[in-house]
Amino acid sequence: LEQFANPRNATAGTLKQLDPKIAAERGLAFIAHGLGDISQVHDATASQLMARIEGWGIPAGRDDWRVCKNIDEAIRRVESWLAERTAVDYPTDGMVIKVDELFLREQLGATSKYPRWCIAYKYEAERGVAVLKGRTFQVGRTGNITPVAHFDPIPLSGTMVSNASLHNFDEIERLDVRLGDKIVVEKAGEIIPQVVSIQTDKDAMRQGPITPPDSCPECSGVLEWDAPKAGHTAFRCTNQECELYFQRRQRIKLPQTCMMETGRGCDGPVEVVDHMVELRCMNPECPAQLRERVVFFAGRNQMDIENLGPAVVNQLVDKGFVSHFADLYELDEIKLMQLEGFAAKSTYNLLEAIQASKDRGLVRLLTALGIRHVGGRAAEVLAGEFDDIDSIAAASV
Ligand SMILES: [Zn+2]
Ligand SMILES: [Zn+2]
Repeated sequence: LEQFANPRNATAGTLKQLDPKIAAERGLAFIAHGLGDISQVHDATASQLMARIEGWGIPAGRDDWRVCKNIDEAIRRVESWLAERTAVDYPTDGMVIKVDELFLREQLGATSKYPRWCIAYKYEAERGVAVLKGRTFQVGRTGNITPVAHFDPIPLSGTMVSNASLHNFDEIERLDVRLGDKIVVEKAGEIIPQVVSIQTDKDAMRQGPITPPDSCPECSGVLEWDAPKAGHTAFRCTNQECELYFQRRQRIKLPQTCMMETGRGCDGPVEVVDHMVELRCMNPECPAQLRERVVFFAGRNQMDIENLGPAVVNQLVDKGFVSHFADLYELDEIKLMQLEGFAAKSTYNLLEAIQASKDRGLVRLLTALGIRHVGGRAAEVLAGEFDDIDSIAAASV
């Protein structure tokens, strides 16, 4: 059987199989966790509804959920499941606590991202130890530079892991991590593995600190630290013991103490710093940024263009076929057939998927463009105010 990175990919990959015989062989199980859309609700609580689903003969995990009288009982259940969860034959990373009364769910409603009537509790992520062999600097779609740790593969949460995020250069300073150090790597669910601490004797002979690159590792372009917002001053706490010491903040008026305004941190003084935490490649033509922007554009929550993943995007950018989103819509068979691994069928499928993305609507398009500060919610607001992208472009600030 083909190797998959994790159970979720294996499931999604199996469901996409065109041959139902292959899908049937893979032993997937279906468990309902609720109803999608229903015109008439007959039950007062979700637990009654789940029992009804079971009554229809649809598996709904009757042994996996239970009704708790109050939050204390729910927390005790979360704690007791911690020991039980290793006994079930599928991986789990936490529990979901939901309000049982359906009318209360209605009243609680949702934020732009999450319903207010349910919350996930995640168990502590799996950790492993490795020796830091190398570090690279990754360029994100907004030019942001992320340091990445590299090490010999270690098993973690069911996958082999050989690199992990170091987040940013303040985090490197906080960890005081250096090449050759023993690092503790954590991986929670689908999240990118990250370095959370080091286990090295700091008095021993060690390599020098990891320093930021002088220029963009992908295009040699100029790098600049993020400045604070206009009229704001960047600062951080001066107390090395403080939880906020490694957190750069910005305000119009500098607070007198670290905890002023936020109520967190210490009552020590703050100091002005000359930039915020992020380091960026300033070259608008940077191919690494372009690749990341196109991958994001095609992503599931944006234009949702199937089969346009990083490997294909890299080739499209390297061959010069795509230097802007609009170029995706100019792709044709002649260009796609030049890509590695592309035959008539895959070419046809990708062209179809690109065409289909034209119907995604204004909200998704605005999000997909990846404009800083225009996430899903801002895109909805903009799309509510304007009819099309031309009127947004023509609008005054
Ligand atoms: Zn402080
Ligand atoms: Zn660059």
